[in-house]
Amino acid sequence: MNLSKLKQTNIGESNTAGSVTDFRSLENVIVKKYGGTSVGSIERIESLADRLVRDIKGGQKPIVVASAMSGETNRLIGLAEQIDRDYRGPAYDMLIASGEQVSISLLAIALKKRGIKAQPLLAYQLGIRTDSVHAKARIKEIDGDFLLRLVSQGIVPIVAGFQGVDEEDNITTLGRGGSDTTAVALAAAIRQPGRPTSCEIFTDVPAVFTADPRLVPKAREIARISFDEMMEMAALGSKILHIRCVEIGAKYGIRIHVRSTFEEREGTWIVPEGEVLEQALVSSVTHDANTAVFKLFPVPAGPGFLAELFQTLATRGVVVDIITQSEAAEGQRIAFSVTKEDVPLTRQVLKEMIKSSTEVTLIENMAKISVVGVGMRNHPGVAARFFQILARHNIPVHIVTTSEIKISAVIDQNHLSTAATALHSEFSLDKTE
Ligand code: ASP
Ligand code: MG
Repeated sequence: MNLSKLKQTNIGESNTAGSVTDFRSLENVIVKKYGGTSVGSIERIESLADRLVRDIKGGQKPIVVASAMSGETNRLIGLAEQIDRDYRGPAYDMLIASGEQVSISLLAIALKKRGIKAQPLLAYQLGIRTDSVHAKARIKEIDGDFLLRLVSQGIVPIVAGFQGVDEEDNITTLGRGGSDTTAVALAAAIRQPGRPTSCEIFTDVPAVFTADPRLVPKAREIARISFDEMMEMAALGSKILHIRCVEIGAKYGIRIHVRSTFEEREGTWIVPEGEVLEQALVSSVTHDANTAVFKLFPVPAGPGFLAELFQTLATRGVVVDIITQSEAAEGQRIAFSVTKEDVPLTRQVLKEMIKSSTEVTLIENMAKISVVGVGMRNHPGVAARFFQILARHNIPVHIVTTSEIKISAVIDQNHLSTAATALHSEFSLDKTE
């Protein structure tokens, strides 16, 4: 991944376009990402423009990234699915990327009305190059130089989140919630040596919590959390940040500040592990209520089938989470879990690959519950406590997986709230009031 085509030695010198990129003028440049609710209506867009004017008057030079107006991406997906539930490809990405085109244009109009020079920008204009995995593309390159040139000319770039272009100039999208990744990747592309870079993610919640407060009312706000923990949380179902944005943050040292669109106060900082002073044994209880399990029986004969199946799923961008396999007299049985988002792609792949009499069953009412914490690395016994709590509440566990800093179990969805509440209190995360 080359996130900086930026020729850093050129900063401070005249560039070929004739304009001067003044190093000092790049002080206070900050990438600010606004989610769907922040641009969810004309009133919201107008008040966001007011807030940006205040930031600019205060000396900031924002690079803005926006999502589509809330509900819009879902609406567009719904239209496509009325025609073909399983299709993913260039036409799908062109369709679902269009919501951002609308929101950035409206925001640019609102800023222009307030006397601010603003330029709405689509991915092709910024050279946001991705691979060609439609609906799940990964950013490979961004032209940070161009972006900085705009800023140095006093222009506020308003960038469409979520989209990129592949080698053939097809529009691609980065996966649901992918505007976060656009923002952090832009911050990486414009980073300067010796200057800490951060990226603000404005959202409709004030911070990252120790658990989803809708599920666990005693959940607390987290002030600082490590990249590793946040990455696990994102992978395990926390919807607050797109996982790739945390990966890019970790790789390029971009500190991510998750905060509220509606309040001025600070939210949660995602930072390198060494900057988190208090290392909790468990820092959060995360869940994914949208776990789906596919079962195949009997698995088509031939030694290469499973390798080919999982290879094809991986190439299409499906993250297969947990796999179990067993032998019976009538043949081999496998089960694997994916997130709900990946169900259409998985079904498409299975349709293409299975022509025989194999029965494919999809079970959608599963949930995954996990505890995450870097403290687990050095303290044994967390797994024992995790399973004791589930046993005490008579919650059957279907599948289990662990890593150095997490323990996850797939359980029935109707046990989710009991499990989350009990684990949250077992690991002393409940807020005290
Ligand atoms: N609009 C896209 C979505 O709804 C991207 C984003 O919001 O981050 O998934
Ligand atoms: Mg989001």
